Amino acid sequence: GELRFSDLDEIAELGAGACGEVTKVRLRGSSAVFALKIAYYDNNDPEGEMVVLRRVAQSGSPYIVGCHATFRSPADEPAMLLELMDAGSLSRVVRSRGGRGLPEPALAEVAARCLAGLVHLHSRGVAHLDLKPDNILANSRGDVKICDFSVSRIFLGPDGESRQVSISVGSSEYMSPERFKPNAHAGPHGACAADVWGLGITVMELFLGDTPILPADVTSSWDKLMEVILYGKPPSFPESSSASGELRGFVTSCLQKDPKQRSTVAQLLAHPFVARRDAEASRHQLREIIVETM
Ligand code: ATP
Ligand code: MG
Repeated sequence: GELRFSDLDEIAELGAGACGEVTKVRLRGSSAVFALKIAYYDNNDPEGEMVVLRRVAQSGSPYIVGCHATFRSPADEPAMLLELMDAGSLSRVVRSRGGRGLPEPALAEVAARCLAGLVHLHSRGVAHLDLKPDNILANSRGDVKICDFSVSRIFLGPDGESRQVSISVGSSEYMSPERFKPNAHAGPHGACAADVWGLGITVMELFLGDTPILPADVTSSWDKLMEVILYGKPPSFPESSSASGELRGFVTSCLQKDPKQRSTVAQLLAHPFVARRDAEASRHQLREIIVETM
């Protein structure tokens, strides 16, 4: 029957941000546990995340955090009942490894799964626009899945026609240069290219662990950050880094400042860093790492 809010018992807090709260809940009278996300307020589009979730997260993609139901809290806030990811975010995983980044086989598996998640989203007309380690969740089976559609944009209309969408939204450290232009908009290709840049920064960060990509004096000032991303060279691994040629090449392909020069998701799926990984060994290593941190 209908799911009632009062049938959910809170077990633990999972995350609290500026715009909402995520708690672990159990359905009363059963052993089923979920993550309940409640949005306190929405910036511009009150139903945005719920609309996107219905489009992309109720179809059972293994690369997207599942959504069982969307409804409203007793205080009339948007509420979403999500698949529980019992290992939390990849940023938590790296933090609890004492800041050590992921070794390349495990990282290649993360990249492959994120790319598969992006294929799912983009083919349904959705650009995520906030890809980062905080928004990639893991579970004890070794799955990693994309979550948090709070700033996502739908670039296909009801009849499948292309739409221009705002791409100015997102977390600034992960935003591509073109997104910093005032009132930046893009069609399908440009919106998807923004996700590819976000993936490139994410992969770099997951490899480097607690070694920051950009110095603190840059990331602590929005103006400096914007200047460096817009006018500086794209981020790359230091010479001294142990990153392989394949990993360096993958990141370089993602971090092309001109979105037209940036690799597409399809091209990246064929990149040797991802395509030539030993999928079995990579998956095994990723699962071991995730489970160790729980
Ligand atoms: P906003 O919607 O404003 O971007 P947010 O970043 O707080 O808010 P989420 O990223 O969806 O929203 O969730 C915040 C954190 O809560 C995640 O980084 C993760 O640690 C935890 N979390 C979210 N969803 C789940 C889930 N399904 N399972 C386990 N933990 C989750
Ligand atoms: Mg988030």
